[in-house]
This record gives sequence, structure tokens and C-alpha cells, in this order.
Amino acid sequence: MSQEPSAATSEETVTFADLGLRPELTKALSALGYEEPTPIQREAIGPLLAGRDLLGQAATGTGKTAAFALPVLQHWADSADGRTSVDPTALILVPTRELAVQVSEAVHRYGRDLGVRVLPIYGGQPIGRQLQTLRRGVDIVVATPGRALDHIGRGTLQLSELRTVVLDEADEMLDMGFAEDIEAILQETPDTRQTVLFSATMPSRVEGLVKRYLRDAARIQMGRAAQAPGESPKVRQSAYVVARAHKPAALGRVLDVEAPTAAIVFCRTREEVDQLTETMNGRGYRAEALHGGMSQEQRDRVMGRLRAGTADLLVATDVAARGLDIEQLTHVINYDVPSAPEAYVHRIGRVGRAGREGVAVTLAEPREHRMLKAIERVTRQRITMEKIPSVADLHARRLEMTRAAIHESLLDEESLDRFRVVVESLADEFDIVEVALAAVKVAHEAMGNAPDDEVIPDIAEPVERRERPGQGDGRPRGGSRGPAAGAVKLFIGLGRRNGVRPQDLVGAIAGEAGLPGRDIGAIEIADRFSLVEVPAEAADDVIQALRNATIKGKRVSARRDRDREDAPRRQRW
Ligand code: AMP
Repeated sequence: MSQEPSAATSEETVTFADLGLRPELTKALSALGYEEPTPIQREAIGPLLAGRDLLGQAATGTGKTAAFALPVLQHWADSADGRTSVDPTALILVPTRELAVQVSEAVHRYGRDLGVRVLPIYGGQPIGRQLQTLRRGVDIVVATPGRALDHIGRGTLQLSELRTVVLDEADEMLDMGFAEDIEAILQETPDTRQTVLFSATMPSRVEGLVKRYLRDAARIQMGRAAQAPGESPKVRQSAYVVARAHKPAALGRVLDVEAPTAAIVFCRTREEVDQLTETMNGRGYRAEALHGGMSQEQRDRVMGRLRAGTADLLVATDVAARGLDIEQLTHVINYDVPSAPEAYVHRIGRVGRAGREGVAVTLAEPREHRMLKAIERVTRQRITMEKIPSVADLHARRLEMTRAAIHESLLDEESLDRFRVVVESLADEFDIVEVALAAVKVAHEAMGNAPDDEVIPDIAEPVERRERPGQGDGRPRGGSRGPAAGAVKLFIGLGRRNGVRPQDLVGAIAGEAGLPGRDIGAIEIADRFSLVEVPAEAADDVIQALRNATIKGKRVSARRDRDREDAPRRQRW
């Protein structure tokens, strides 16, 4: 293992401060564990700070939210002194309420040292609270187009002070039928505004918006850098689609089945590295953290343990792992889809060297599907979508390991001799095959094969979704996000296999728990289970009521979704 000179790394290190961001912002980013800007941030932040319009082609997972949010925050802070208006200076339009909440939380986190006031507004949320907050004064509004227009019509959302308008996931907004709403909103904004548009794809309708509303825009396209031919290492590449909450379990399962000699797991932030290292150690793996916040001495110690074989899992950020050349490495695991195809190529280049075959595994959230496609296009290599190994696969794999161990023993006859007396005495009493079976069982269990494997729902299969009824702008959209603010997800142990449809769940919850249909949020129906969002305060009543109910003639098991993750599990690999 050696530290290569930094010239060997393909990208020059650029910091957030180099991009011209204020110390309050760089401090917040560093506290969040962001070690360096992602490629889209590197390219977008400069022009946006300079006040230019910008068109960015980038999907979720690239870090696009911070790319537009940081300049918006900086502009606000630069002009905050002496401002008296209570009206917002930035409006960020997003396609769904989940994204409104997510983006608003991100803006809030990045701007925590600036004292900026951020408000998400979306359909399905009581308008009264929004009105009250708007009246008191808000600096940045993150809204779905329908509800934004509603407030503009009422005169409760004033756009005259707007400096920046951001259209996030423009293609999705157009797909969901928001074209007219968006244009109506843009027409109400000052001509002097800065307009920023992000979109994963650039269909002609998005180009139309760009032509009509952006001026001399900087254009940034992610995922176009070509790879030098012949450079790609020999790496078997696969990906699993898995919900965030199940990632630690999925990682464990993949490790158990793949049985790497040594693996590096890439995370996005220092916090994620620390957390995951702790989780994996708790699950019985020997994991070590490596990130930019550690001293050289700490890093050397980690590398020493890996080299000595007392650790077999390195959990690291891109920055920390840059320039490391680890001889034993067989597997690269992307705990998240990397922020750009270049980063992916760089990561998987750590294995498959010197003609050996390496393995790259990516754990993607459903909404990160597009990013995987972008990576495939750039690398011109296929990433095989696989199902998370089932408990049965895992058992088969473990039995195979036990079989291999016994096979190896059989080759060394002399070492077996001292056990002959045990077999012979048992053979007096039992059939010899039965004796062998019992011996295999004992050996298998002694190899640390505990039987407590949890079920990881396979969400590579399509899920049916239904948005909250009566919500003006919440049209269905693919992918699974976390529950909306104030809502919790319930796990219900019946799914498509049981013939369950959304209306059955709504019927049972409304009928048994008396919860009005409009209070029931998104519903996802998978093969063997369903997830339903309900208001947090009603969750316990709904669970109780469902436990006494039947759906499609079956008794119902219901609990809070996260309970499934809480069960501790120990398994060595
Ligand atoms: P987005 O593409 O905006 O949805 O961001 C994807 C994820 O990357 C989010 O979880 C962010 O918190 C994270 N992220 C954004 N920028 C960075 C960065 N520079 N370093 C590490 N993580 C980041």
C-alpha cells in the first residue's frame, strides 16, 4: 500500500472557499461532512455567484441542490443588511411535496449560520400555517407550482423582491402537467431576476422554457466526459435498488454473499462514514473509517490494520481514499451512487488491477436510477441490476462455505484420525449419514452462522404509488422518498400477493381507525407488504385498529416502518 503523489489524481482539489463562498456557508458544509464540491457544484457555483442565469443538466445524486442553494443563500446574506422587506428574495419550484420538504431542509441546513428563514409550501398541508409564516416574513420559499400559484392569486406570496427563481427537476414538473403554472408564475416575477433551471433530461419542452425565460445562460452538462478507450479495468459491475433505511442490512447481505478479501465502501460525507462504520461494527464486521477529518496518524493506523488483516472493511470518502493503492482490495462498494460518472470510474479503478477481476457494487435508492443510467452511458459499460440476495441465497452461500471447509478437511486425512473414536462410538447408535449430518450442523454453527437474518424488501420490483388525495398538485411520481413532514410510514404485512390494492388499505384505515381518506398519504404496494403514510399523531391508533381488522379476509400485521430496521443482527463474513 502506498500513497501516490497527488499529481496522480485526475482531479485538482478545489474547495468550497475557492469557489468564493462565505465562511458561514463553508463552515456549515464542513460541519455536514462535505469534504469538497461535487463536479456540478464546482461548475455551477461560480457563474451563479456572478449572477448569471444557468441551465444545468443533472440528475438527483449529483449534489445539484447545494449547487443552486449555496449561491441563493450567499446572495441573500450579501444583501441582508439593511433590508426591511418581509418578502422572499428567492423562489425554488420543485415537482413534489417531498422534494419541497427535502430542498427546504437542505437550504436551512446550509444557511444555519446566516439566520435565513426558509419555508416549504405545498399542497396537502393546511394553508393556514403557511399564511401565518408568510405574513411574518420569509426569505426563501421552496414550493410546488400549484400551491405557489394559489398563494400568488391570494396575494399572500409577493414576488416583487425576487432576485432568483430556481426551477428544480424541470422535466419532472413539465411531465406532471405544471407547464402553465410555471409560466404563469414566471410572468409575475421581476424582469431583473436570475433564472436557474435544473433538469435531468432536456426534452424540447424544457428547451422551450429555457429560450423564453433564461438569458445568456451558462450551460452545464454532467456526465459527458468521455473515458479514454482501453483504460477501463476488469470489473464486474452490479447495482441493487434499495431504500435508504435498508442500506446497512443490504450492505451486510452483499458482503456475506460476495465474501470479499477486503472491501472499500464509499460514502458521501464524513458523518455517513462515521455512522456506517459504527453500524457495521455493531453488526459484527471489522470496519474502519477513513475521512478527511482524521489526522495523518489516525489514517496511518487504519491503513496498518487493513494491511495486517485485522480490518477488512474500509469505509471512506472520496477525498480520503484518493491516492490509496490497496493491494488486497477485491470489492468497491458505493453506498450511494457517486455524484458524477467520473467519480464512479475513479472509485472502481481501485480494483481489477494487474489483470485480476474486481467487483463493484452500487447501492442505489430508487430515485437514483437515472444516475446509474448516466454512468452506464459515460463508461459504455453495463451495470447489471441485481436483486438483493435473499435469506435463502444467503443460507445457500453459507452452506457452500461450510461444505468447502469440510471438503478441505477431507483432503488432509491424517488430521482427521483423532476424531475417529467419536464417529465410531456414535455409529454404534446412529446411522452414519445421520452422524455426518449432525457433525455438519455443529461445524456450520461454529462458523458463526447465526439464524437471525432479517428480510430486506426487494424494491427493484415496481411499486404502486398513490399520492395524497385532494392535494392540488401532488401528482404521482415514481420512486420512493421518505415520508412527508409530520407523517410516518406504516409497514403493513400484506401486499400484492394478497390481492391488496390502495383502495383496500384506504378503506381499512378509514373504516377501522376513522382516519379521513385525505389524511392518508402515499401508499406503496410491494409484493409481500405495503407502506402507508399517515399523520404521526394518528399512527398508534391506526396500528391498533388495523391489528383488530382483516383486509381481503386476512389478519393484518401493522407497525411503524422503521421498526424493521431496529432489530440487531450479528454476522461475520
Ligand atoms: P442532490 O443531488 O442535491 O439530491 O444531492 C445528493 C446528496 O449528496 C445529498 O444527500 C447531499 O446531502 C449530498 N451532497 C451534496 N453535495 C455534497 C458534497 N459536496 N459532498 C458530499 N455530499 C454532498
